[in-house]
Amino acid sequence: MRATLMYGAGDVRVETVPDARLIEPTDALVRVTRACICGSDLWPYRKMPPGETGRRMGHEFIGVVEAVGREVRTVRRGDLVVAPFVWSDGTCVFCKAGLQTSCLHGGGWGSPDVDGGQGEAVRVPQADGTLVALPVGRDDVLMPSLLTLSDVMGTGHHAALAARVEPGKIVAVVGDGAVGLCGVIAARRLGAERIIMLGRHADRVTLAREFGATDIVSERGDEAIERVRELTHDLGAHSVLECVGYEESMRTALGIARAGGAVGRVGVPQHESIPLAKETFFDNITIGGGPAPVRAYIEELLPDVLEGRIQPGRVFDRVTNLEGVPDGYRAMNDRESIKVMIEP
Ligand SMILES: [Zn+2]
Repeated sequence: MRATLMYGAGDVRVETVPDARLIEPTDALVRVTRACICGSDLWPYRKMPPGETGRRMGHEFIGVVEAVGREVRTVRRGDLVVAPFVWSDGTCVFCKAGLQTSCLHGGGWGSPDVDGGQGEAVRVPQADGTLVALPVGRDDVLMPSLLTLSDVMGTGHHAALAARVEPGKIVAVVGDGAVGLCGVIAARRLGAERIIMLGRHADRVTLAREFGATDIVSERGDEAIERVRELTHDLGAHSVLECVGYEESMRTALGIARAGGAVGRVGVPQHESIPLAKETFFDNITIGGGPAPVRAYIEELLPDVLEGRIQPGRVFDRVTNLEGVPDGYRAMNDRESIKVMIEP
């Protein structure tokens, strides 16, 4: 079968690999019908040292179950399923607490023996704990929005929860990528009174407004902090969603949080330490967040997608087949595209 591998920064190839297959009795074999490229895939695209053996890529996908191991109970052949960006058993102490990203028997896609989502098929370990069956046909018009439940919409929701978004709160979102835009959807869904989006690209800002952003701040760094302070009577935002992962964006997020407020960080940190330790200490600012346990959020967000109350699939502004994936990475890295959907 064909699948995507990364051999180093800027070096993405689509190659023939061994066919995905069942190994454990708890596995499912899923034929991928939709996948996508993630903002977090761009970190290795920028930094990965060149190597002889490629890394299998992709952790967001929807597909049709082709076969299941003898111990699988919750999905069967023919089901359309969505997979979260990590696999998990659904039964350990962390899964039961709704923190499937810390599953004691779970793991990530693309590790040895587990395929990546950016390919024709995937071996899904712990199928019962991982997969969620979708009550629609495989080419339903809702497919782009359903695909966001594997990562970006759940991650935006996690940022909003970690930032303690509630009705009446002033929310700020740092980062105008797909996760930040989904963070706007999540903040509105949770009842935020004002949503300040920090972003500057015209197409992203337009989408943010349609998703519910009430104010746009296009400045950066200290000027952005100053502008948000002006918009909030010098108090800052109650809830700040940090959806980038750079030290500079974290500094901005902490700088615009009001005393007693909370920052929910979901951008994978590219820095070693969290800035403004003293300032955030004296302002009693809570810093929360981490990788989103999207498996826990799929059931919560699914009805809103199925009934059209939220349309996170609008973050996809480009569609490609498998052979076009390398150019999809380039387009997202050059910020030509917000997020690329793959139809293998
Ligand atoms: Zn678990």
